[in-house]
Amino acid sequence: MIHNNFSSFSLSDDIQKALCVLDYKIPTEVQERVIPQALEKDLIVKAKTGSGKTAAYAIPICEMIDWLENKPQALILTPTRELAVQVKEDFTNIGRFKRIKAAAIYGGHPFAIEKTELKQKTHVAVGTPGRVMDHIRKGTLPLSMISCLVIDEADRMLDMGFIDQVEEIIKELPEDRVTMLFSATMPQEIKDISLNEHKAPVQIDINEEGNAAADIDHSLFLTTEEDKFELLTDITIMENPDSCIIFCSTKDRVDLVWERLKQMDYHPQKLHGGMEQTDRISAIKRFKRGQYRYLVATDVAARGIDVDDISLVINYDIPLEAETYVHRTGRTGRAGRKGNAVSLATSSQSRFVRQIEEFIGFPIPERTGYEKAEVSQARLNFDKKLKAAPEIKQLKSDQLNKGIMKLRFNGGKKRN
Ligand code: AMP
Repeated sequence: MIHNNFSSFSLSDDIQKALCVLDYKIPTEVQERVIPQALEKDLIVKAKTGSGKTAAYAIPICEMIDWLENKPQALILTPTRELAVQVKEDFTNIGRFKRIKAAAIYGGHPFAIEKTELKQKTHVAVGTPGRVMDHIRKGTLPLSMISCLVIDEADRMLDMGFIDQVEEIIKELPEDRVTMLFSATMPQEIKDISLNEHKAPVQIDINEEGNAAADIDHSLFLTTEEDKFELLTDITIMENPDSCIIFCSTKDRVDLVWERLKQMDYHPQKLHGGMEQTDRISAIKRFKRGQYRYLVATDVAARGIDVDDISLVINYDIPLEAETYVHRTGRTGRAGRKGNAVSLATSSQSRFVRQIEEFIGFPIPERTGYEKAEVSQARLNFDKKLKAAPEIKQLKSDQLNKGIMKLRFNGGKKRN
């Protein structure tokens, strides 16, 4: 019997062992509150990304899975492809010793591959509503054994216009099942689906505003569009983060900032909806592995990226919706670590800042720009870290390998 702070949930050894490997020692608040009641009652949980919500539903579901059953026993709906892939990975990790098979199904991924995967043993299906509905219509996703439905990031589903599809899917599922709904915010429309579809659900409210204040240093620079880029580089020099996401409002702005940072040897990655799916997944993977320290991204693309330790979030463009601010800044300060979120806003955007402050319940401390001298002083350390970055080492070793290959190809002789 393995003893850690998850022992009180009477989990099987297979799941406990997996949690040890993942180094989950202490359950987070949402896990404390969800795991004991999950699968017994319907739950509506207000919890943000970064709270440990995925494991809060994945642990009890993995525990419940009957390995011998070939048809899916749980269906997880996510708003984005990236989150679907991430949640599938989480199930695979938590269910590793139980050999749980999870499949991710999402638009832009070859349907035929998914169809083949679903034909084989699949315990958990994780997908975006449109593609899930496609599979249901074509009869390639059997639903008869589904005993648990999770609607993850329900508020994003609403923002992205997926709620009708979610309701259609709900109608197709066996009635004898439990539903868990997770959402960072609870607008009326979400409460409505919950009330229609849940039988006296239990409401769990993880106080995210409190967490946001406690876990993250928020700050704001008022600037102009002309000065923004220079201020961005100053912030990166002064903060010198190990990992940083820079949020922009559109994909063109992502391209622009990415290009300029690239020219300055930041070796940034970028992520937006206009990129090929494979490039998006590979960008996330490399960023997650710590191969790249800077990621320039739009909201939709960055949704659901599960990187443990993002030290700095920069809102290059202040979000126009207060909830987006909470989602973005929730990428840092995860699982008990202190986060740092810096926002840039022009004077014409101050009303958005006010709305955000009202929403999060506290004013964001305003900072003035840096002195040139302090930036040049900090630059030495910054340059050192930039040169020591893993992607540069990789680049050098790639170049070295290419050189060796070239020499081999030329019979070891240099061409004149
Ligand atoms: P989530 O809110 O599901 O996106 O999870 C946020 C991050 O916390 C993920 O990187 C998880 O791997 C991590 N995490 C979840 N539960 C725990 C735990 N009990 N202890 C440590 N890290 C955790």
